[in-house]
Amino acid sequence: MKTIDDFNFENKKALVRVDFNVPLDADFNVTDATRIEAAKPTIIKILEDGGSAVLMSHLGRPKGEARDDMSLKHLVAKASEIIGVQVKFVDKSIGRKAEEAVASLEPGEVLLLENLRFHAEEEKGDEAFAEQLSKLGDIYVNDAFGTAHRAHASTTVVAKYFGQNKCFGYLLAKEIEAIKKVMETGEKPVTAILGGSKVSSKITIIENILDKVDHLIIGGGMTYTFIKAQGGKIGDSICEDDKQELALSILKEAEAKGVKVHLPVDVIAADDFNNDAETQITPVNEIPDGWQGLDAGPKTLENFKEVILQSKTILWNGPIGVFEMETFSKGTIAIGKFIEEATKNGAFSLVGGGDSVAAVKQFGFENKVSYVSTGGGAMLESLEGKTLPGIAAILA
Ligand code: AMP
Repeated sequence: MKTIDDFNFENKKALVRVDFNVPLDADFNVTDATRIEAAKPTIIKILEDGGSAVLMSHLGRPKGEARDDMSLKHLVAKASEIIGVQVKFVDKSIGRKAEEAVASLEPGEVLLLENLRFHAEEEKGDEAFAEQLSKLGDIYVNDAFGTAHRAHASTTVVAKYFGQNKCFGYLLAKEIEAIKKVMETGEKPVTAILGGSKVSSKITIIENILDKVDHLIIGGGMTYTFIKAQGGKIGDSICEDDKQELALSILKEAEAKGVKVHLPVDVIAADDFNNDAETQITPVNEIPDGWQGLDAGPKTLENFKEVILQSKTILWNGPIGVFEMETFSKGTIAIGKFIEEATKNGAFSLVGGGDSVAAVKQFGFENKVSYVSTGGGAMLESLEGKTLPGIAAILA
């Protein structure tokens, strides 16, 4: 794997695809700079080598239209503060003006290009647009994991114009390493904890990881499709009736592959989908009509704890209950605590893909697990076993 450490950037201009798609408030202040901070180590390495960095990113969804409210100029002050260098800005992504701005860059300087998605060609993966971009640097560095599953001009197509002068930035390399540690080289026992609302959105992940894990913990709304398929009474719990056969075939396949599947045995059932609803603890397969399971019950959590604490590699994707409501957040928080404990005892833990990342941040586990992925869709596609085009382009 070619990373930024394989290059010396002295007197070189690095064209760096970053993910600066950050939230802005009504006055265009950056309200969460995590993504800018995440790109800092890569930028600093280039500058410390004696090179200069040309940063390119998208922001929002301008759909090919130049829009002042989505201009990357709004990020200049924050990026300068974080990187510690006054970032220059050019209000073009390609063409003469951008090329001139790049030409006048001195070693140690940083230039930010305008929002790539002001050009519809970016998302189309247009070759001519990618070729124009390729004129803006000597070495291409991709450090944007969040868009690595997109075959866009700046994330994928541009790479081919750099021959072997292309590599992963630190952030992207870390994401790839973390996924590899779980999916390929993870120390056994390997446990995947899958939650979230629907079987249908997780099925490709489940099918892919059955070959890689020793334990599969299933929680969240997905649970009830499995329980109903096994003949249990799930009351008004969320269920995909047309996925019952699939649920049974997953359980069979898991058994054939020697994967132990752990489903909830009890739940916190509520008489309404509401934080103030009446609740009761019921067996998972005896939920009364008019009640729905919204969180894992105490026995379930004990069982899950035992499995998690004996694991050496842990993947967590999807909340175990409706964590957005405080009443039903306890199961998800407990899972976070078990993973924290296992990590302290030496396990490698990766949290990735969508809502579990939000939960981990909300409940303060972010620095207590080994790695929290920065890419939602890109992480899900990696767990599904897909080769991400942005990663393949660097390896080509
Ligand atoms: P996903 O996007 O598939 O990861 O699903 C995340 C969503 O699943 C969150 O918004 C949770 O509130 C929801 N969820 C988790 N457990 C349940 C449940 N028992 N019933 C309904 N929704 C749930």
